[in-house]
Amino acid sequence: MWSTMQDFPLTITSIMRYGTEIFGRSAEVVTWTGGEPRRRSYAEVGERVARLAGALRGLGVDADQRVATFMWNNAEHLEAYLAVPSMGAVLHTLNLRLAADQIAYIADHAEDDVVIADASLIPLLAPVLPRMKTVRHVIVVGEGDTAPLAGAGKRLHDYETLLAAAPPAFDWPDIDERQAAAMCYTSGTTGNPKGVVYSHRSAYLHSMVVCTGNSAGLDARDRVLPVVPMFHANAWGLPYAALMAGASLVMPDRFLQAEPLARLIAAERPTVAGAVPTIWADLLRHHGEHGGDLSSLRLVKCGGSAVPESLMRAFDELGVPIIQAWGMTETSPLATVAHPPADATGEDAWRYRVTQGRIIAGLEVRIVGDDDRVLPRDGEAVGEVEIRGPWITGAYHRDEDPARFHDGWLRTGDVGTLTADGYLVLTDRAKDVIKSGGEWISSVELENHLMGHPDVIEAVVVGVPDDRWQERPLASVVLREGATATPAELKGYLAARVPKWQLPERWALIEEVPKTSVGKFNKRAVRGRYANGELD
Ligand code: ADP
Repeated sequence: MWSTMQDFPLTITSIMRYGTEIFGRSAEVVTWTGGEPRRRSYAEVGERVARLAGALRGLGVDADQRVATFMWNNAEHLEAYLAVPSMGAVLHTLNLRLAADQIAYIADHAEDDVVIADASLIPLLAPVLPRMKTVRHVIVVGEGDTAPLAGAGKRLHDYETLLAAAPPAFDWPDIDERQAAAMCYTSGTTGNPKGVVYSHRSAYLHSMVVCTGNSAGLDARDRVLPVVPMFHANAWGLPYAALMAGASLVMPDRFLQAEPLARLIAAERPTVAGAVPTIWADLLRHHGEHGGDLSSLRLVKCGGSAVPESLMRAFDELGVPIIQAWGMTETSPLATVAHPPADATGEDAWRYRVTQGRIIAGLEVRIVGDDDRVLPRDGEAVGEVEIRGPWITGAYHRDEDPARFHDGWLRTGDVGTLTADGYLVLTDRAKDVIKSGGEWISSVELENHLMGHPDVIEAVVVGVPDDRWQERPLASVVLREGATATPAELKGYLAARVPKWQLPERWALIEEVPKTSVGKFNKRAVRGRYANGELD
């Protein structure tokens, strides 16, 4: 028997209309500028979104053309987030921190038609633009010298001029919820970037779940600060969820260093924020040296790579709870969130907070062994994490890769355990696990312990070839200024925490851990430096 319910599509258009109409006067988007912040009510955003859609229609965007963004987190990026999918086109957030070759590859692969670019990024875009073969139009946001873009054979436009000339209303089309809404390429930590295409339905359901209490619990009282870039897995879904919740957005633009972030937080008083661990570690150091007011934050979402327990504890002492979450571009990205169970308090809660988190409603996760057998959810059996659900990708865009899928589940490439009550613990990424004499060593566990040492700012552990054991861990450590810990001391510190056979015998003291385009430890680069003899 069928239900009696209306078959009403779940679309970004309805998130956009709901947010900008119902919360038009009560919520705002604030963009940090270094000087006076730019403020726009959601009602103003709504009108500008309609104008942007009209302007794009005027440039010939009339179907599922890809409209790329090359932008920081700001109000105009939000306008593109809302206008492009709602008019039936596909938003493609380009990762501006990638190498030029990769950006050109991605834009071509996605067949981008229009690029909306921040004027401050013209120097980055100019060398790539001639290689973006399918791009016809470039819309520049903000003031800047556009001369470097001139020779690329594209039509150049000014964002505000286009908006001013476009009508203040737009006739939003009916959209099938399964239609493509947005696309994002993986950041390529593990190889060539792969395109993931989100549907209206997946974005809608994902936003709803971000608003639930087991996730970020957003509501109309919140002010949300996505430090995580809007080109990194849709800023973890925070912008769409904020519109749905009627929560204001506080946008850092290009001011992502600890000092301006600290000022932004003190001045704009966000309640919820999201960023990778390196950002919070920098902010913590800044806070230690200069103080500041972080008291508005009720929840800090942190993920993208394992969150060191020492970092979470330090923020807890400042009264700011960091909650770890796990996900990937392929999972929209939210999949698990490490809120402890209701009855776990004090130290007991930490057993859960250090995990990657509890599975959120709507998703299924399982652990699979080498022979593709599903392993028990006992918190002990270690295997590859597989996941399925309504906001998990079932394929890659124009890229057959059957090895990444298994009976309708996505193979995540992450390795870990799962408890009966749904808490996931990642021991490593499959390719980062250190295989020593047939046993596996978790690079992440060694890193986390090392980063708990008071002298250590950052530590990265990779497997390097070893004649006897096949692979052995190499620990590269960044020490706090003026600290004097030696590798021998650090090894002693680790020896109290992990089995002896896991202790690295190779150590390097380095200035800084190389990072990927989205701020994660770049282990490929570390292995490369070791191979070149730089880390001996
Ligand atoms: P890329 O795969 O290019 O790094 P993603 O941002 O999609 O780009 O990365 C997803 C991966 O990041 C996950 O598969 C996992 O390995 C890692 N990751 C994300 N969150 C966490 C976390 N809380 N703890 C450990 N690893 C994490």
